[in-house]
Amino acid sequence: MVVYVLSKSGKKLMPTRRFGKVRKLLKTGKARVISRRPFAIQLLYDTTEYVQDITVGIDPGKTIGFAIINKQAGKVIQKGEIRLRDDISRLLRQRAEYRRSRRYRKTRYRKPRFLNRRRPENWLPPSVRARLEHTVEWIKRLTMFLPENAQVVVEIAKFDIQKIQNPNISGEEYQRGKLYGYENVKQYLIARENGRCQLCGKGYDGNGWHIHHIIPRSEGGSDRPDNLALLHKKCHEKLHKNFTRYSKKLKRPAVYKELAYLNMYRKLLINKLKEFFGDKVIFTYGAKTVIQRHNLGLPRAYYNNALAMTGIKSIQDISELTVIRQVRKKKRSLHEATPRKGRKTPNREAKRNNKNTKEVILKDGRKWSLWDKVKVGGQVGFISGFTGNSYAYVQDMEGDYIRMPGKTYKQVSLKQAKLIKRNNNWIEIKKAA
Ligand SMILES: [Zn+2]
Ligand SMILES: [Zn+2]
Repeated sequence: MVVYVLSKSGKKLMPTRRFGKVRKLLKTGKARVISRRPFAIQLLYDTTEYVQDITVGIDPGKTIGFAIINKQAGKVIQKGEIRLRDDISRLLRQRAEYRRSRRYRKTRYRKPRFLNRRRPENWLPPSVRARLEHTVEWIKRLTMFLPENAQVVVEIAKFDIQKIQNPNISGEEYQRGKLYGYENVKQYLIARENGRCQLCGKGYDGNGWHIHHIIPRSEGGSDRPDNLALLHKKCHEKLHKNFTRYSKKLKRPAVYKELAYLNMYRKLLINKLKEFFGDKVIFTYGAKTVIQRHNLGLPRAYYNNALAMTGIKSIQDISELTVIRQVRKKKRSLHEATPRKGRKTPNREAKRNNKNTKEVILKDGRKWSLWDKVKVGGQVGFISGFTGNSYAYVQDMEGDYIRMPGKTYKQVSLKQAKLIKRNNNWIEIKKAA
């Protein structure tokens, strides 16, 4: 938790963690609340408007890592991660499949459409588009109450494609020694191969990746990615023991399928952020971030990447981590395709929306909605579904069910629950890092 502060004249000041002081200011009428989420107050008395340098690091992706730091003081103000939904394209594909199959049955269906498929310029698959827009919105939101001079650092790619294609490119960015080049190429290969070994086809085994030159350097093979293969340590050793046999298996890989969309996503992300932040936003690469994170001695995590890319040299860390997760508030399926829990056959008799319950009102008048943050049985969680008239399923942030003490079933009585907070599409917790 962090409290954002505005001066009497409306200038954005340094955020604070001195909650005692904030409480006192609010109580004595020396400040007023101007926003609840995020929590911001405005001072009602004259103060100096001095601010220090703030840098915000952003590691975009399915999970967005973020860190807000005070570079001068070497202090972390806030850090955390935002987990975006990644089930939507699967659900859309599933919906299309259900519609298709309904057309062959005597049941309500939606006519197929095929004349409305022209793609506008800058088209992105909806999943990529959504990720782009959420990323931009969250960066704006995280910075909305920060001092005007705050800088934003965004990692736009794991590797620098320019550097890959032209390893001899010069400039300050590239004079970072062997490790930078190595990390850069490695990240690229991992992306190209979808994290799979090119010899055995299996995923990461925990022993580090080896980069193999398909045409050996000694025979004039280049460092270009076309000539590089991503291998397990074990497989690499195997290959060199029986070179003639195994080296035939390595062929030039196909072009990374998603690359075009990723490039478009990157281009749009850069444009949108530049438009909003002007020269206060700078862009960096994952290969560089990894080295910065190693230098700080931080373990691998999205928020640590975000922390590292701010360029902070030493840190007084906070132990608190903010975790935000995107959830779905609506379910609009027309029929039950697979039996829901506890049934042997799908329920095809129920009214079409009956099972898409979004809220429940108890006899005592208390209303409960999906994803309400609740305390039940001494634990805190979020309502993920309803069952019966007064029972719900409650999950923690990781999606594990919260049960009543000593019980094996997942149903939790809402009569015994206490509402902490209502939520929209985003649920949030603070936890120890
Ligand atoms: Zn392997
Ligand atoms: Zn080799």
